Amino acid sequence: MQSLCGPPPVRKVLCLVGMLRQQMELPRNPLTLDGKTIAEHFAEGSRRADGAPGIDLTVDTDHLGDANLPAGAGTSIPNLQSALGSLVIGQSETRKVPRIGLLFADSFAPKDGVLGIMFDEGFTPGTPGEPSEEDSIPREGCAVFLDAVAELRKAAGQPTIADEALFTAIHELGHVFNLWHVRDPLSFMAQSSTAGVYGSAAHRFLGTPSTNPVPVGSYLTQREFLSRCDDLLYVRPTESPFGIRGTYGPPHDDPPQNITSGAPPVRVELTMARREFWNFEPVELDVRVELRQGRDEPFRMPDVIDPGYEAFTLFIDDPDGTRRRYRPEKRFCAPPGELVIAAGQPFDRDLSIFGQAGSYTFAAPGSHWLSVRLRVPGYADLWSDPIEVHVRGASPGSRQFTELRDLLTVRRFARFAFYRSHPLRPDDERRVAEACRRRRAPGASAALLYALGRSLTSRTGRRRGPASRQRGLEYLRRAQDSAGLGRRARQITRAVLEGG
Ligand SMILES: [Zn+2]
Repeated sequence: MQSLCGPPPVRKVLCLVGMLRQQMELPRNPLTLDGKTIAEHFAEGSRRADGAPGIDLTVDTDHLGDANLPAGAGTSIPNLQSALGSLVIGQSETRKVPRIGLLFADSFAPKDGVLGIMFDEGFTPGTPGEPSEEDSIPREGCAVFLDAVAELRKAAGQPTIADEALFTAIHELGHVFNLWHVRDPLSFMAQSSTAGVYGSAAHRFLGTPSTNPVPVGSYLTQREFLSRCDDLLYVRPTESPFGIRGTYGPPHDDPPQNITSGAPPVRVELTMARREFWNFEPVELDVRVELRQGRDEPFRMPDVIDPGYEAFTLFIDDPDGTRRRYRPEKRFCAPPGELVIAAGQPFDRDLSIFGQAGSYTFAAPGSHWLSVRLRVPGYADLWSDPIEVHVRGASPGSRQFTELRDLLTVRRFARFAFYRSHPLRPDDERRVAEACRRRRAPGASAALLYALGRSLTSRTGRRRGPASRQRGLEYLRRAQDSAGLGRRARQITRAVLEGG
């Protein structure tokens, strides 16, 4: 067929570069690695057998300031998403020339070792499957954290720091084109190593250009995949969600495991303070990793307890029996830090699981089962016991239901409850506090009070002065008195309150 139509056309993609902070500088100007621009690396990596590149990338550094955050705004997911939005503004409806963003940022506030992240769809309230709103566009951009890169490579000096920043930028842009991790052999899609920056041998995409049809049952190489940018929506930025690759690439990001041992000496336990809720109510999944019974030797493992890491996967069994993966709205790429799990010292964290990339996590009412798979290098897969949650059906006749729905499905309140990090405007804060006071939301109020308290006592919240901190502490006290607060939230609440 191809001979009739001629070679497939080249896909133009516009990549806008932005700086999150006004005083920041590009890691290298121009943005080159091994003397080649980012666009040249992608032209080379997508070159077809006929010599034409599959991707014609334009890297635009004329709008660096468009992504500047206001002073005092933290480097959180919602702020990064809003910076990305200001950068790629004007995404065309047809996305004929997709606009993607490359943000250079300082360091990721929730986790400072992260070198880069790729943005899939953000969480926005809405019905699953409905057309997208702003910031619900998949694979629209990425961020590189220059302070984290500098910290990791400080011993090696400036040129190495710039090399790592450029490597990370190309790696993250590779994810924007839906490429998956490959550890071996080295390429742009290997995750950075703590051991040192990769040399020129890693500055490539894998595979050779090929005109031959790909045999059924095997995946495209990275270069073949990139070369199909024009005709495969699985490759084109802003089209399919990350990890969905049809038959052309491995599904999701499952790292192939080289198992040398049995089960690791730890277990994963899931709990939830609330097992029954409406799908728009803020609920958290508590995840605990602890030593197995009878073990007392501390166990060292990668710090990857988050759905943004490929080693941690949350599975959901829907009421109709289908099993799906929870979809994180971001992907972390970092040499993972270390967790030490010791006797009597479990690791706890909680995940906002009512929302995911694109929309609410639970679409259908009824019984759902949640389970987590954790992969520790060298060990057999570790599975949690599944836990059951019940998603309540809509009850339009109930005042409690309608009031809560009308409040929580408003975009800014939904995102506030999901991210729990940014103070609301004073009138919005009053509205949420009022809803909790009337006790119409006996279940949701613990989570909302906790979100109010955390946002006002956090680093960003503290800038608002002592009065708002006092209000924050009061919200936390009320949250503590409520039965609906999860395990991790309760630990944090206690720590904040005891810290004064
Ligand atoms: Zn990655």
